[in-house]
Amino acid sequence: MCPDPPKKPSGTLPGGVPTGPVDGGGLCCACPANGDVNTNGYGTYVSTDYSATHARTNKCKIAIVRTEEGGTVTVTKSFTLSYTRGATEAAHKATVSGAIAGAMSGWQAGAVPYRILIEQPGCKPQKLKIQYASAIAAAGGDVNVAVDNRPAEVPALRSGVTGGTEMEFFINGGGDVTWTMTHETGHTFGLLDEYTYNRPTNVGPKATYKGADDPTKVVTLPATGGVAPAAGPFAFANSTIMGINGNNVFPDYLFYWIAIEVKKILQAAGVTAVVKVVTA
Ligand SMILES: [Zn+2]
Repeated sequence: MCPDPPKKPSGTLPGGVPTGPVDGGGLCCACPANGDVNTNGYGTYVSTDYSATHARTNKCKIAIVRTEEGGTVTVTKSFTLSYTRGATEAAHKATVSGAIAGAMSGWQAGAVPYRILIEQPGCKPQKLKIQYASAIAAAGGDVNVAVDNRPAEVPALRSGVTGGTEMEFFINGGGDVTWTMTHETGHTFGLLDEYTYNRPTNVGPKATYKGADDPTKVVTLPATGGVAPAAGPFAFANSTIMGINGNNVFPDYLFYWIAIEVKKILQAAGVTAVVKVVTA
């Protein structure tokens, strides 16, 4: 149910008349909206001058619930688990589910300082909280996870995205599991690594983040710091969840993609709104 009465174009409403289909069926100010996301983040959310142009596929669902001046944007990603090399549902589902839930908690905590601002013509500005949720789907999830119970290897196996929406989860892998899954689920939201593999050839590499209505943000990765050059591929790392192992900094631009998708969902419902990431 939409609590707002339909608005008739009068020309006197703040911010102009509501937009929408000519039949007057535009979305009311507090009407909910939902959408399925299936976007290649590379080029759509972020691009770099240092990385191969591999796809970073974001599949998830977004639910927008609005009040007069607030509400929530809930991002839900579903995971379908399969089991290989000695892994079983009975023995390992809880471990993997816990790691996935931990990753979503990581993103949710990272989003606490921010809101999605919606400025819909004819409505008050709305600042919506960002929420992340996950679900385990028997089949057809947004992400497929191959749960692998092979013995530990040297160097340690690292769980992660193998391409598109495919992931491997090593029960006997190395690294901090929650951090690793938070970083890797970042890729399944279409985000790129903030490090380059090609030091010292690449000097001052840049990542360019697009907003819906936020100005494009160009991030220059540091040429020093993070990890010593001798470590090779992890040089040029930026101090964020997507840049340095174990780092838990979440800049606002890592949430720009949500504004892009929210704007798209509202557009599909007949509303042309300004959508931005702002501080809470
Ligand atoms: Zn990565």
